[in-house]
Amino acid sequence: MRAAVLRGPKDVVVEERDTPEPGPGEVLVRVHSVGVCGSDTHYYDHGRIGRFVVEDPLVLGHEAAGEITALGPGVTSRRVGQRVSVEPGVPDLTCAQCLAGRYNLCPDMRFFATPPIDGAFAEYVVVHEAFAHPVPDSIGDDAAALLEPLSVGVWACRKGRVGAGSRVLVTGAGPIGLVCVQTAVAFGATEVVVSDVNPARLGLARDLGATTTIDARTSSVADLDRAPEILLECSGFPPAIGAAIRALDRAGRAVLVGMGGDEIPLPLSVVQERELELTGTFRYANTWPTAIALVEAGRVDLDRLVTGSFRLDQAEAALTASRDDEHAVKAVVHPQD
Ligand SMILES: [Zn+2]
Repeated sequence: MRAAVLRGPKDVVVEERDTPEPGPGEVLVRVHSVGVCGSDTHYYDHGRIGRFVVEDPLVLGHEAAGEITALGPGVTSRRVGQRVSVEPGVPDLTCAQCLAGRYNLCPDMRFFATPPIDGAFAEYVVVHEAFAHPVPDSIGDDAAALLEPLSVGVWACRKGRVGAGSRVLVTGAGPIGLVCVQTAVAFGATEVVVSDVNPARLGLARDLGATTTIDARTSSVADLDRAPEILLECSGFPPAIGAAIRALDRAGRAVLVGMGGDEIPLPLSVVQERELELTGTFRYANTWPTAIALVEAGRVDLDRLVTGSFRLDQAEAALTASRDDEHAVKAVVHPQD
């Protein structure tokens, strides 16, 4: 099979590799669509994210969907031919965190496109059968791939306890911010304020359900008429994080999703005096069934996020697509084209 391999910073080549064999409990998936994530672009640019360093050639891509073409030993259900969305992190299912239901916190997680585990910019991947989620035909291949970032939004809304009548502030209108907007609305939020510096993305946020948008170049979240109860922070931009926390209502909740500064200044007196709750999010757990249902019901539109499609031999262009085009939101790679 062909795979797009990152050999070092800014060095991606298509290589011929052996098609992986599904092991016990695993299925082989022919990949039809893979979304490009900011983390893929970060590995491409820098060869590392925090403590994860690309030391050996790595296949990027962890937002994948396709069709099951073969079953490993012990997989008895008739799943060949089934269209699936791949949940790209498989935990050990035996540690204390897994047994507590928090499998996203498993210290033995094997996650696609995170050194040394290869990802899905390839014609085929293998994954545990329980992490190959069947999708209905009403969900296309690109949307099935983007159930992964949607899961990040579902998880953020759960952590922030978004519900009927919630007032939500989303900082950052990139792909994750835009799924957070849609998920918050689907969860019942009645005010969803979005701030960003990109007018095109703010326009898309309005189309997708944001009730108010703030151009952070000229306005501030500090000037809102009503203080939001829940912050879904998707910018990772330290000054934006501090301002957004200060904009929260008393007893508000801040969910820090965006990655950026390893350490940021915290408005501690605001956190204390208003009894704010702060939490991070790390990927997701048990989100695919909800994500699939939201897309199938038309509550979330993932196809609207796709602004570019690329072949496998164009992986480099896909990885850099959003850099120079302010209208670009989400690039997808189609390895079978
Ligand atoms: Zn575990």
